[in-house]
Amino acid sequence: MKHLNKIALVTGANRGIGFAIAKGLLQKGLTVIATSRSETNSKTSIEQLSLYGDLRYCQLDVTRLESIHACVDFVDTEFGKLDVLINNAGINYDTWHNALNANLEEVRNTFDTNMYGPWQSIQALLPLLQKSDHGANIVNVSSGAGALDAQTGGTPGYSLSKLALNGLTLQLANQLQSYNIRVNAVCPGWVRTDMGGSGATKSPEEGADTIIWTALFDSHGPTGKFFRNRTEIAY
Ligand code: NAP
Repeated sequence: MKHLNKIALVTGANRGIGFAIAKGLLQKGLTVIATSRSETNSKTSIEQLSLYGDLRYCQLDVTRLESIHACVDFVDTEFGKLDVLINNAGINYDTWHNALNANLEEVRNTFDTNMYGPWQSIQALLPLLQKSDHGANIVNVSSGAGALDAQTGGTPGYSLSKLALNGLTLQLANQLQSYNIRVNAVCPGWVRTDMGGSGATKSPEEGADTIIWTALFDSHGPTGKFFRNRTEIAY
């Protein structure tokens, strides 16, 4: 396999879509830093992923700044740069309440992982992303539930956190254009994972496909877009 000398970091890589993203990027010849919030719970996944290429592991809880800073130190020491950041970690498809009766504590917790998690990860990793030789790609794993026309009042924590993540994607894409850093959002579709359930229509590999495609855009590639099935969709 040709080694691309590109370094990618994936959050929540121990299971679900994150695992499939890490596997797919390894198969394409990138060095992948698989991260997860618990090293102990990730041993089997890390062993499996290491069969596919040049895999590194780093503990990373996207809600904890000290964990993020330790991970930044690891990437800096090992590589001195980062080419691809995939903000995949996400929680809580909260079907049991709605915008009228929402438990706002739960909504806040959902925002902590789904929106502030990617935001503070991007801020902390930015100096390393700016050192990418190729112009870095940031991919925010969002959801169709975050689209404007999906705001019908259900899954309030999840939908509004993904709506905000989409807005953050646009803001950062504009701010980072002059640094040759692209920031895009991707909806993976409905995927068979712990979150999506066994009845979902896509395999984790199919869910990861557009995320990997977006992660590999070159310096002429689009920024500030929202994609599903390798096609732009409306915010
Ligand atoms: P999943 O199977 O539930 O996996 C979620 C991953 O996020 C796990 O690795 C989990 O780690 C990690 N995570 C949660 N909180 C974290 C934190 N604070 N720090 C670091 N990692 C954390 O979900 P999935 O279906 O693969 O979803 C991945 C992404 O796709 C999410 O952003 C989700 O919103 C999005 N998405 C999924 C679907 C779908 O149908 N599945 C549809 C649209 C969008 P632990 O193992 O430690 O819990």
